Amino acid sequence: MPFLLIHETFQQTIQGEGYWIGTPCDFIRLYGCPVKCPWCDTGYADGGGAIAAQKVEITDLIAELKSDRVVISGGEPFFQTNLKPLTEAILKTGKKISIETSGSRWQLLSETVWITLSPKEHLNPEFPVIPEFWQRANEIKIVISDGKEPYFYQQYLQAESPLFFQPEWNDRDRTIPLTLNLLREFPHARLSPQLHKYLQIP
Ligand code: SF4
Repeated sequence: MPFLLIHETFQQTIQGEGYWIGTPCDFIRLYGCPVKCPWCDTGYADGGGAIAAQKVEITDLIAELKSDRVVISGGEPFFQTNLKPLTEAILKTGKKISIETSGSRWQLLSETVWITLSPKEHLNPEFPVIPEFWQRANEIKIVISDGKEPYFYQQYLQAESPLFFQPEWNDRDRTIPLTLNLLREFPHARLSPQLHKYLQIP
């Protein structure tokens, strides 16, 4: 049976970020990411060597789902070869899917899968955004750390996709005011506050 490498799963929480903020959902957090963002909040800043991967079959992942929406995050979901079979199995149950990605590896998935593109090319040019993602993404979410990020991607931000700026949490006393200033410069962007962290839920 096909399996994926899993970081963790949890059910019956809410989406704390972006377009679907506040929506009840389950999370499947896939293992592994080579991008090494310095502020990574899931443990992959150094490549994730301290995190234990669990091999879990798709049928077992489906069996534990409880919410109508399933968020597949990482790590970096698009690096796993069985991502597409996982999405197809979830869609067969009638549930909706959101996937969060840095966009650095491409796979063709059903158009019904909501894709959140959170580009990290400015942090690690070895993992540029695959061009197809700028068209395919249903929303773009940019983590604000030094405030230069929206300008780095500015040529791609004219698309119809909803655009969110998310203050980097670890340094939020500095990044929240920085992000609020950027919202004045980019009036079509909206704030993504990581609501789950304020509510102290997974
Ligand atoms: S792309 Fe995401 S999971 Fe990977 S290191 Fe950066 S923040 Fe962490």
